[in-house]
Amino acid sequence: MRAVKGLATRSVRSRNASAWLVPANGHDVNHQLRADMRTFGDDEEVDLVIVGCGAGGSTLMQRLAREGWRVVTLDAGPFWDPERDWVSDEAGSHHLYWNEPRVIAGDDPVPLGSNNSGRGVGGSMVHYAGYTPRFHPSDFRTMSTDGVGADWPIAYADLRPHYEDIEGELPVAGEDWPWGDPHSYPHSAHPVSGNGELFLRGADALGIEARVGPVAIANGRFGHRAHCIYRGFCLQGCKVNAKASPLITHVPDALAHGAEIRADSMVTRVEVDDRTGRATGVHFVRRGRERFQRARTVAIAGYSIETPRLLLNSASSRFPGGLCNDFDQVGRYLMVQGAPQTAGRFDAEVRMWKAPPPEVSTEAFYETDPAKPYKRGFSIQTVSPLPITWAEHVSAQGYFGDDLRRYLSDYPHWACLGALCEFLPRPDNRVTLAEEKDRHGLPVAQFTYSQGDNDRMLMRAAQDVMESILRAAGADEVITIDRFAHLVGGARMATDERHGVVDGSCRTFAVPNLYITDGSVLPTQGSANPALTIMAVAARAADLLARGARGGDARGGDARGGDARGGDGQEPVTHAGKRAKHG
Ligand SMILES: Cc1cc2nc3c(=O)[nH]c(=O)nc-3n(C[C@H](O)[C@H](O)[C@H](O)COP(=O)(O)OP(=O)(O)OC[C@H]3O[C@@H](n4cnc5c(N)ncnc54)[C@H](O)[C@@H]3O)c2cc1C
Ligand code: SF4
Repeated sequence: MRAVKGLATRSVRSRNASAWLVPANGHDVNHQLRADMRTFGDDEEVDLVIVGCGAGGSTLMQRLAREGWRVVTLDAGPFWDPERDWVSDEAGSHHLYWNEPRVIAGDDPVPLGSNNSGRGVGGSMVHYAGYTPRFHPSDFRTMSTDGVGADWPIAYADLRPHYEDIEGELPVAGEDWPWGDPHSYPHSAHPVSGNGELFLRGADALGIEARVGPVAIANGRFGHRAHCIYRGFCLQGCKVNAKASPLITHVPDALAHGAEIRADSMVTRVEVDDRTGRATGVHFVRRGRERFQRARTVAIAGYSIETPRLLLNSASSRFPGGLCNDFDQVGRYLMVQGAPQTAGRFDAEVRMWKAPPPEVSTEAFYETDPAKPYKRGFSIQTVSPLPITWAEHVSAQGYFGDDLRRYLSDYPHWACLGALCEFLPRPDNRVTLAEEKDRHGLPVAQFTYSQGDNDRMLMRAAQDVMESILRAAGADEVITIDRFAHLVGGARMATDERHGVVDGSCRTFAVPNLYITDGSVLPTQGSANPALTIMAVAARAADLLARGARGGDARGGDARGGDARGGDGQEPVTHAGKRAKHG
């Protein structure tokens, strides 16, 4: 069942020892590592302060702490202790989400506030599903090849080595992947549950290629991390440390290399010296007290809504319309994926909850099909809603009272698939500041969203395919609901400041020592789940920053010769030597 490639595992440990810093019992927290965490004074100018300890922020932190940078990462949420703080219960897991107020608007407003994004050390990956596909090479040039979306200032080849590294560190388990840039995974695929079996059966009957994985769930023991026990509570936080999140994949190694993580610290503003035009640090509120952390370099990684909000809330006399917003790009091109879910009823019990929700998927419909009236495409994956989410699914169909009870008591007989449709970036889908203020007195984000015709056609097409698969597998009834998933964009990467906020190295065009390393920088989203790509982008930015610090020539990969300079570019930054505290 299990195939851990020994050589690959050894090289992972040499560049990221997180899995070996988990206690030997496999499922607890290394309390000593946290107790010994290095701390910096606010008035101490650190090499790098990072806002947000999620997918992008943690990866950047771990990489640069290893390079000997003095790094402080501030996160608005807690430093989770899974044993103490997480429960295997849907209703009891809402504290994992970012529940601060947000305003929604537009023709197709996207509901926010339940589980769109996470808070706390580990970020949204603490309660993400665990699917970790790569983007396809075509995702990086959709405007050139399909006439829609946007071209990235970097190419797939620039990310490939970082995809491989991160897949080793999470680690990812799955069958050999035939789509996009065909590749294999460090761990072999997990066994599949009833839900996955039905997907495979239906797809096979229709001649649709489907595969098991890729999921960031250890298949076998990895370092000291435990094997998945197939309880199905991935979206509530994996208490046994089998599912990857930065809390276990990047935070331990960063701490061991001298990084400080300051939890419960809400960053309210990035400070820029109007005279030099350089960032000097960040203002934050911790335990009711306002503080300021000085830093030579600042990186923001607060997720697609909070990152543009922070930039807009950091307006100054030099940047009256918001930091880095001279060309009105901040907050624009924010995307969601259309994520319809189709459930099918079977006479036999399926028990879809008895496995991780992510298992089987197909990317056979990912690319533009010239025979179709729409551009780009969608992927289909197993999703396995737990009872409360199942109740939401059924009631969204309009079933209440006795009908709702009947569907709920029938839960063991249902299988469920979800699609991810590539909604295209639109300039008016954006974050702005609302009149409403949060508990810190800061304007909250307003997210305006409207779909285009292409988006609607993709949703319809994905629904048709999912219903066909479930019927081909033997379902006697199918029901579909419309949903959205995965916010990305809002501070996108581009070749110049008139089309985006950061260059190909994630450095902002406007402020030479300010970086953005989270999902906000993605110009398009494909129909892949985004976390792996966010980590790969952050790993690449870290690589360029580290090389820039040494040699000053950290040129961002640039497929078409744009200005994608990494590193500071103005003044060489020098950093203290390596200081590993825990080896
Ligand atoms: C329910 C659910 C399921 C998902 N499933 C998948 C999946 O299967 N596969 C996949 O690839 N992706 C999945 N995702 C998406 C994925 O988790 C996110 O895309 C990814 O984690 C985003 O990374 P990020 O670095 O942009 O932000 P995050 O990981 O969200 O990190 C942002 C961090 O910044 C902190 N923060 C924000 N503002 C501030 C501030 N002002 N001051 C201090 N700290 C701040 C937050 O507390 C948070 O910890 C899922 C998401 C959800 C919600
Ligand atoms: S199914 Fe596996 S990965 Fe998911 S929560 Fe359970 S043990 Fe963790």
